[in-house]
Amino acid sequence: MERIRVLIAGSGPAGYTAAIYAARANLSPVIYSGMELGGQLTTTTVVENFPGFPEGVDGTVLVDNMRRQAERLGTEIRTGTITSCDLSSRPFKLTVDSSVEVEADSLIIATGASAKYLGIPGEQEFRGSGVSACATCDGFFYRKQDVAVIGGGDTACEEAVYLSGMCKKVYMIIRRDQMRASKAMQGKVASRENIEVLWNSLPKEVVGDLKGVNGIKIEDKITGAERTVPVSGVFLAVGHHPNSEVFAPWIKTDKEGYIQTLSDSPKTNVEGVFAAGDVADVHYKQAITAAASGCRAAIEADRFLQGQ
Ligand code: NAP
Repeated sequence: MERIRVLIAGSGPAGYTAAIYAARANLSPVIYSGMELGGQLTTTTVVENFPGFPEGVDGTVLVDNMRRQAERLGTEIRTGTITSCDLSSRPFKLTVDSSVEVEADSLIIATGASAKYLGIPGEQEFRGSGVSACATCDGFFYRKQDVAVIGGGDTACEEAVYLSGMCKKVYMIIRRDQMRASKAMQGKVASRENIEVLWNSLPKEVVGDLKGVNGIKIEDKITGAERTVPVSGVFLAVGHHPNSEVFAPWIKTDKEGYIQTLSDSPKTNVEGVFAAGDVADVHYKQAITAAASGCRAAIEADRFLQGQ
């Protein structure tokens, strides 16, 4: 069976930065990319808050540069997802895509987080035919049409602004009387004339027919009144859940599934297993904090391996 020195699960900023550091420490890291090569950055547009890019940088370009940097320094990047593992003893045993088994002396979990869905009627039925969690992937299909974005965080604002450039009208459906998003993103939303914010609005049902979505039913939280907003696309931006399920039998997580690391370090409860990025980040969830935690995880993995 193949034995890997440092196995990195995930290919976002955390995974690639861990790989850059591990490769430069001569640890021959191997990345298994996971289902979404490049992670969430590939679903964003311009990233304005990653230092080093005074004019901003396209999210896909940024993460692709990280990939190329990791590869140039000696990382092997493989397509594949860790589908099960046994972390009870070393070397750790991991199964890729339910078929290939590998062993690893150390493991960095950088599997990120995936978009949450609401669980309202119509949502799963119309997933892919009117319901999406990625405006940059699917916005094109709704050119010159009316769409709704659900959520009031930075992701929702980013999606709404992006969609406002191609759609006729964008409704932002927000369950409170204020947004969670940063002031900078709220300012961008306010500057777009074709974005209308519907405050205190609870999404109740995605409505449609055989042709696809034709509305979103919402309830006014103050009056209790229900109405259907006519739209042909519904974009969900209601947060993310950490991709830790595969590791959860061995690795301590909180009740939401975020990996719990030992205080102020990327170490998990299993010696030799480290966590980096959104899968272990309850608070910040930024590309730059993910990258920084990937660096810390690789440094700790190196120290751990040297101590063996
Ligand atoms: P988020 O900040 O958790 O916001 C989720 C939004 O969805 C909130 O407005 C929340 O409302 C709403 N929501 C949650 N459940 C809902 C439900 N059942 N029904 C209706 N609305 C619901 O998630 P995010 O926007 O994905 O951002 C995650 C992290 O990534 C944040 O730290 C953010 O700063 C970061 N991020 C940064 C950038 C950037 O800097 N450019 C871009 C994207 C994301 P409540 O406020 O009422 O809870």
